[in-house]
Amino acid sequence: MVQKKEETVAFKAEVSKVLDIVIHSLYSNSEIFLRELISNASDACDKLRYALLTHPGLKHAAGEFKITLIPDSSAKTLTVADNGIGMNKDDLINHLGTIARSGSAEFLKTLTGDKQKDMALIGQFGVGFYASFMVADKVVVKTKKAGDETGWIWESNGADSFTIKEDKNIDYGTSITLYLKKDSLDYAEPIRLRYLVRQYSDYIAVPIVLKADQKEEVINAASALWTRNKTEITPEQYRDFYQAISHAFDDPWMTLHYKAEGVIDYTTLLFIPTKPPFNLFQPDRKSGLQLYANRVFISDDIPDLMPHFLRFVTGVIDTSDLPLNVSREMLQKTPVMAKIKKGIVHRILEELKKRSENKEDYATFWNSFGIVFKEGLYEPIDERKEVSELCRFHTLNNSELVSFSDYVQAMKPEQKNIYYLTGSDLETLKNNPQLEGFKARGIDVLLLTDPIDEFWIQTFNEFEGKQIVSVMHAKDDLEKISPSETETGEPLTKEQTDLLKKIFKKILGSAIGDVQTTERLTKSPIALITPEGQMSLNLERLMKAHGQQIAFNSARILEINPRHPLIKKLAEMAQKNEDSDCLTDTIHLLFDQTLITEGEPIKDPAQFMERMTKLMLSGLTKE
Ligand code: ADP
Repeated sequence: MVQKKEETVAFKAEVSKVLDIVIHSLYSNSEIFLRELISNASDACDKLRYALLTHPGLKHAAGEFKITLIPDSSAKTLTVADNGIGMNKDDLINHLGTIARSGSAEFLKTLTGDKQKDMALIGQFGVGFYASFMVADKVVVKTKKAGDETGWIWESNGADSFTIKEDKNIDYGTSITLYLKKDSLDYAEPIRLRYLVRQYSDYIAVPIVLKADQKEEVINAASALWTRNKTEITPEQYRDFYQAISHAFDDPWMTLHYKAEGVIDYTTLLFIPTKPPFNLFQPDRKSGLQLYANRVFISDDIPDLMPHFLRFVTGVIDTSDLPLNVSREMLQKTPVMAKIKKGIVHRILEELKKRSENKEDYATFWNSFGIVFKEGLYEPIDERKEVSELCRFHTLNNSELVSFSDYVQAMKPEQKNIYYLTGSDLETLKNNPQLEGFKARGIDVLLLTDPIDEFWIQTFNEFEGKQIVSVMHAKDDLEKISPSETETGEPLTKEQTDLLKKIFKKILGSAIGDVQTTERLTKSPIALITPEGQMSLNLERLMKAHGQQIAFNSARILEINPRHPLIKKLAEMAQKNEDSDCLTDTIHLLFDQTLITEGEPIKDPAQFMERMTKLMLSGLTKE
């Protein structure tokens, strides 16, 4: 038989980079390669089992599904074989030659070259098949896909390329042979393999057979973990299962294992990670949830199995209420899925509520996933109220995270609304002049620093009958609450106010919309706000940062503090001479200063400097 020639294919750039990091930095954790290979083999069996339900005539490997480990200490190899779905040439090139997972390219950009840091990052990423190169100098994959007539041999030393050649004498399924490195020869010892399988892969539902010394022995429990009784499962087993299905290295923050019986029967074993996975914000990211029908794997890529705001939940859902040969189209239509989803969401929220009683513990969850969870405040869901009760915020008056109810309970007797301010950074927000009047009155303010906050705040604007209002639109509410710090001095007269408004408008022209006085400022002379219903300054900045062309918001309102000595001085100057240069310069400087505190660029920095120098000089001359 004529064998086709061998082809050499270069790894995609990102694979070489991952390989390099895997080999050099993850080394202390090298044993996880076995868990990764076994997990792939088990997935391959699941996929074939499902394919046979829909295509019963498909040619495939004989016998019961199993994963075989064949250590050979004299050849210094370990082979991991399965009789699952197998791979064709395209699969080999696409799956073992590139990293197909969404967000990989962006993820790799975050790597720093610092081993310690990168190790933590790559841990979030999950290295899969490539982990083999931590223990092997050379890896040979022999595989034939169910239904195909020919098999393939893939070979690589993990440097920058692999070879691929056709071979008609290969059996259905996949066998992966690792040529072990000198310091990894223990992986060819049965005793080590037995130990590792028990530790990492005991729950794998397919039998794992150790073939050594002419004997075959099943070395895992081979029953799906979620079908076992809760009391028989140790926390370590839950953790190992979580780590294997999520390709993670952290501990689960929450483990939720229960059986629902009623209209729909299902068992579910769900996890919330402690740390966010690297691709949490990738739109095409898979959910991390696997669906089984009576222990037969159906899919790990079912859209809308979980609402978006819970997309960090991973685990398994197994139901007896779906036919085994259920199609993807059917999955989207069947009311069974909608009912399961409802049940699960309800249960997760209930558990979160329990866990939220321990503030410190809950803060761990919130700091990792709050930013995603808040999407539940505007996603079209029935559980909006429950979600809002579980949200936590930084505030002006608290160092700990605060809930809406905590906020409401601490409200001043005369206070009507819940107030918030958005911005990009907590410390800058705390010093924002907009908060001066609130500080003087001891009124708390939610400080919102996630981009997502700009979005939910548009639709979720009431909690237990209290309006959620921007500090900029507090209007006359503040006048009703007297400040604890006494404000110094009398405000401007009506006449002075009108004159100043006119002059500010004349001098600043189209840079501002309107001018009004405010009670919100105590220390600062002026501030800028956006009118209600307009895009906030923070949102405007965010959109610009994302390359959106936004017209300059000319509708901004300039607010003046009628009790501030500088403002009063300006009024006196204006009464004497409306056209004085000094008045004009000071108003320009004030405006530019305000832009700076808002984190905005000033329009003409050179002119700003010129005016500033002039003012300093005149100040110093008087010394
Ligand atoms: P992941 O398992 O996270 O997708 P891997 O790098 O471990 O990432 O594997 C990449 C892909 O290669 C798998 O998704 C699968 O399509 C394919 N693959 C790996 N091992 C096998 C196997 N034993 N049988 C069939 N396909 C496999």
